[in-house]
Amino acid sequence: MIQIKTLDSLPLPARVFYRVDYNVPLDGTTITDATRIEETLPTLRLLREKGCPVVIASHLGRPKGEVKPKYSLAPVRAKLAELLGADVQWAGDCIGSEAQAKAAALKGGEVLLLENLRFHSGEEKNDAAFAQELRKLADVYLNDAFGACHRAHASIDALPRLFPPNQIAGGLLLAREIEFLQKVTNVSERPFVALFGGAKIAGKIEPLEALVKLADTVLIGGGMANTFLAAKGKKMGKSLGAEVMLPVDLVVADSLDHPTIVEKISESDVPDTLMALDIGPETIERYAAKIAGAKMVFWNGPMGVFEKEEFAKGTMAMAKAVAEAKATTVVGGGESVEAVKSSGYADRISHISTGGGASLEFIAGETLPGVEVLKTGN
Ligand code: ADP
Ligand code: MG
Repeated sequence: MIQIKTLDSLPLPARVFYRVDYNVPLDGTTITDATRIEETLPTLRLLREKGCPVVIASHLGRPKGEVKPKYSLAPVRAKLAELLGADVQWAGDCIGSEAQAKAAALKGGEVLLLENLRFHSGEEKNDAAFAQELRKLADVYLNDAFGACHRAHASIDALPRLFPPNQIAGGLLLAREIEFLQKVTNVSERPFVALFGGAKIAGKIEPLEALVKLADTVLIGGGMANTFLAAKGKKMGKSLGAEVMLPVDLVVADSLDHPTIVEKISESDVPDTLMALDIGPETIERYAAKIAGAKMVFWNGPMGVFEKEEFAKGTMAMAKAVAEAKATTVVGGGESVEAVKSSGYADRISHISTGGGASLEFIAGETLPGVEVLKTGN
C-alpha cells in the first residue's frame, strides 16, 4: 500500500510551488481539451481559500531545452484565469529574477503561472542547479502532475528533495490517482475484468503482463488484438492465469481514410488486402457481458480506430458497458480517455486517469519517481 503525504499535512498558509501537468492538446494557441486544467481547480481553490500565494509550474510538449514559442504556456494562462475566475500572473521564464520577484510579491490567494519548465534543459536532466533555482520560488512543494510522475525530472524529483520532508506533498488530484490505481493493483474487488486495446504495443507489454496476473478476465481489442490473433496468443494467456479473450469477429476495411469495403468477418480469415480496424458485433456482445458481471474494471486502449465513425462502434459500446457496470471502473491512457469523453459516458466512470504512461507504469508495478519522493515516512 503506497501512502503519500497529502495537502492536510502541509503547514499552510505558505508560499506554494504547485507542479501541475498542463500539457494540454493545442491547435495553434487554442486549447482543444482543458481537462488537465480543470482537474487542478479543486486543489487551487483550496490553496487560495487557505490564503496561500501559489506559484504554478508545468511542462508543455517537447521543446527539448530551448525556448520555442509554440510550446508557450501563455494560452494556458488565459484558460486558467477564465476557469478560476481570477487573475493569473505570468513570468516569462520559470527561473531567474523576474520569476523570483513576482513569486515573492504574491499575496495570499494570488496565482502566478511560470513559463514552460522544459524551456530549460535542466528540467529533463533532473539537474540539481536548475532545481535550486526553482526552490527559491516557494516554501512548500505540492505535486498534482501525475502524468509526469514516471519521469525523474527536476521539478518532479530533484526539487522536492530540496524541501524539508514536512513541506512537500501530493495534491488532491495526485492523491485520487493513487487511490484509484491502487484499487486496481490491489484488486480490491472481484471479478476484475481488464479491457486492453490501442495501437501502441511498445510500453504495453509490461502492464498487460501485470493485468494478466491480477485480473480474472482480460479482454483484448484494438491493434493489440491483431498482434495476438496473428501470434495465436490464446494459449499463452491461459498459462499466465487469467482468462484471456480475443475478438471472435472483426470489422475490416481496405483503407483507413477512404474505405470502399467495410465488412464484418470472423477472426480467422482477414484477407491480405484488408485490415482489421474494430471489433465485431459478436465480440462486443461477449465483452459487454463480461464487463456487466465485473465488480472492478480497468480499461486502457480503444477497441478500434474510434476516431472514424465506421470503426468507433466497438469502443463506444465498451464505454457504455463500463459506465453501466456496477463496479469500480478506472480508465487510463491518452486516446482511451478521449474516446470515453466523446462517448458521453465519462461522468459514469469511477476514475479517469489524467496520466497515460504514468498510469500504465503504475499498473505494471513500476516505482514512479514523483510518487516515491512523496511517500510518507521519507
Ligand atoms: P492509449 O493512448 O489509450 O493508451 P494507444 O495510444 O495505445 O491508446 O492507442 C490509441 C490508438 O489506437 C487510437 O488512436 C486508435 O485509432 C488506434 N487503434 C485502435 N484499434 C486499432 C486497429 N485495429 N488498427 C489500428 N489502430 C487502432
Ligand atoms: Mg496513446
